[in-house]
Amino acid sequence: MAVIIRGSPRTRKNQKPAGFTVDQNAGNDQTARSQAHFRFYEELNDFLPPQLRRRGFFHEFSRRASVKDMVESFGVPHTEVELILVNGDSVDFSYIVRDKDHISVYPMFESMDITPLLRLRPEPLRDPRFVLDTNLGKLARYLRMLGFDSLYRNDYSDADVATVSSQEQRILLTRDRALLQRKIITHGYFVRQTIPRRQISEVVARFDLYAAVQPMTRCTRCNGRLEAVEKEIICQDLQPKTRRYYNRFRRCPDCGQIYWKGSHHTHMERLIAGIMAEKRDTAGHCKKTHCRHTTPDANSR
Ligand SMILES: [Zn+2]
Repeated sequence: MAVIIRGSPRTRKNQKPAGFTVDQNAGNDQTARSQAHFRFYEELNDFLPPQLRRRGFFHEFSRRASVKDMVESFGVPHTEVELILVNGDSVDFSYIVRDKDHISVYPMFESMDITPLLRLRPEPLRDPRFVLDTNLGKLARYLRMLGFDSLYRNDYSDADVATVSSQEQRILLTRDRALLQRKIITHGYFVRQTIPRRQISEVVARFDLYAAVQPMTRCTRCNGRLEAVEKEIICQDLQPKTRRYYNRFRRCPDCGQIYWKGSHHTHMERLIAGIMAEKRDTAGHCKKTHCRHTTPDANSR
């Protein structure tokens, strides 16, 4: 006898829990409500309850809902989704789910051309710029160290980061799924790792930033763009040993912080070398276990 699993995926406040049954029960479910078949692919499974991962399942519903709302009711932020196929056709987020729909949900594809299909978001931002949630301060410093324009303030509210992301076309990095579900956010990413050093590897791999790394170009303290400065101009601000041993300096025009190739620079170079060594292998797959990008197969259900 088939085991019937009933429960509710992660739901937002005031949203009625929705029921689901796993694939094997398709023929046994006798409810009068509408039913759609869902399958989430690749890393989108990270967001699902364990019993729904890497398998197809039927989702029961009784009220009219867009595919965006239904996908997010399972805990998957829309910013993580690149392509939705309904009965084999690509649809946008406003599509209203119908009874017996067969829905496949895919994450971003980095190595595959899906232009014949309808992308759910604009093309990836060519000049990646970021705004980070308040709990990702260390990651912001790492990104700046690699030269990436990364706004971060520890007093930003959720509304602030959402607005900055939307108005300045910055990719929002966060570990808060609810924040990514805000409608105004078009480019966002849920950071899986919790340790900053792993987070920077994850983000560089996810957005394929390896070729864009420009060390020593941005202030790690405030995100300002560093400028070369003559030693004579800043001489009085330097410690005696720094003044004696170093001749080339850069300064942040925004906060005045001075940078030179001291011991901290050696540490930084080692760190950058480590990140670059993690670059994808030639097969297009990331060596890191957190990154499992492959190509989609619209026919595999
Ligand atoms: Zn600065």
